[in-house]
Amino acid sequence: MIEVTYMLSPTTSYIIHTAASNVISENLIQDKRINPHFNNVILSIHSYVDKIRKRALEVMKDDESPIATFCKYSASIERTYSVLQAYSKGYFDMICRNIKTDIVLVTCWNSFSLPFIKFLLEHNKKVVIGGVLCNSYEFSHIRESLIDIGLNPSLLDNLIIVKGYVDVTTDLYKIIMDWKDTEIKENDFSTIWHCRSDYIKDNLNIFRAFKQRPIWYTVVFDNSCWYNKCTFCNIDHAKRKNFIKNIEVDELINELLLNLKEYQTDLLFINDPYFIFTPRNKYILNKLKENGIKTAIQTGINLLRNKKYLKNINNYIDELRIGLESCSDFALSYINKGYDWNGVIESINMMRDELSSDVMLRYLYIMDLAETSKDSVLQNYNRMVQVKEMLVEKRFDFAFFPRNLHMFKDIDIQETTKYIKLSENSDRVSGIWKVYNYLEKHGFEVNVPEDIVLPYERCDEYGDFLPSDYEIISNDVMKEIVN
Ligand code: SF4
Repeated sequence: MIEVTYMLSPTTSYIIHTAASNVISENLIQDKRINPHFNNVILSIHSYVDKIRKRALEVMKDDESPIATFCKYSASIERTYSVLQAYSKGYFDMICRNIKTDIVLVTCWNSFSLPFIKFLLEHNKKVVIGGVLCNSYEFSHIRESLIDIGLNPSLLDNLIIVKGYVDVTTDLYKIIMDWKDTEIKENDFSTIWHCRSDYIKDNLNIFRAFKQRPIWYTVVFDNSCWYNKCTFCNIDHAKRKNFIKNIEVDELINELLLNLKEYQTDLLFINDPYFIFTPRNKYILNKLKENGIKTAIQTGINLLRNKKYLKNINNYIDELRIGLESCSDFALSYINKGYDWNGVIESINMMRDELSSDVMLRYLYIMDLAETSKDSVLQNYNRMVQVKEMLVEKRFDFAFFPRNLHMFKDIDIQETTKYIKLSENSDRVSGIWKVYNYLEKHGFEVNVPEDIVLPYERCDEYGDFLPSDYEIISNDVMKEIVN
């Protein structure tokens, strides 16, 4: 029997990713050749994040700047705080001390995880990684990235990278024994819905107590995106996986209801990149609704211009998480989003006419995208306020979720463009480094490696320096955006 530890990467474990932890826990527990240990980093990250947020409120209480408002009040700042906590001094040590096995399996979502993987390898662990990071990049690219951040190449022999998806039948024991990079190509996704062994569940009550927020049980039915063209999106949605195809629909519904009960929640988030109302999906949603389940989906502006689509939302959905990203024609075209401001307005008018105001609206947008001028930035935010006003007027429960642009080394927004270039000047940076630098100035520990998230600065249409959105918009506008 082999002893292994399974964990989510501490650098990206802010969200409770029930799909990964549930299936992998079940797989390992069912395999009699494996003795699994589970490392619950989520709980400690969350309790620290809570403390960081309280400290930010204290330290910045007299600061009325837009960036202080963002750091104090935005819902999405907690993700930033969780990354800072994961990279804080001694944190990787603490996690590593709690790992009692030589072999460690880690689910990684993005390049933030690489320093932790390096740390484990440098502490004599044999590491198996999987997850979105591995599905997004070539094996060689991930290995080279680890060397780029200083890993001794000889330690790469202690790493294997696994692409694809784990289900209950996946032979993880064989993958570990073979010890070579591999891609899981055969799956029986009908098995993933029967999993009950998520180790995270054991701590949900504690989690609930200090977060005082509802828990959304999160699933993915279909991971493809019909659009698949946004330049900041590193997931190749063309490699479509339909996770519900091979399970009998009533069986799926029963399993979902059982799991929701186990997680003590009546909230289901279907995390498909672009949820579509197929007859099968409608049947599932209807049954869930009959059982008192509230459902949230992700969607986009283009779909929200369709009357029939909005009717389906009225019938089945309680919350929409809408990837707006920007209201600037230039920024939208720069990231190849497939619509412009007129499209946004069209969708809002359609929603005002057709959508029930019982549906909660959560708009996600990205701060510090490429822009042509200060005026264009101001216009973008005025338009966002307009979006909010138009929907609030119709009594929608509305919120924005601002996120900062993270320029991971690998995404298509590269320094070669006219509008965004790498920066070595901390006074000029935009995006997430603007926030990191601000927090550092206020005494927060920031150890995020610059070769993982690249500091960048913006240039306007004349090639002159363009400051961050935080320095262009007013605090009143920022308050509208984060509240
Ligand atoms: S619409 Fe969403 S999922 Fe699809 S490519 Fe764009 S960002 Fe990615």
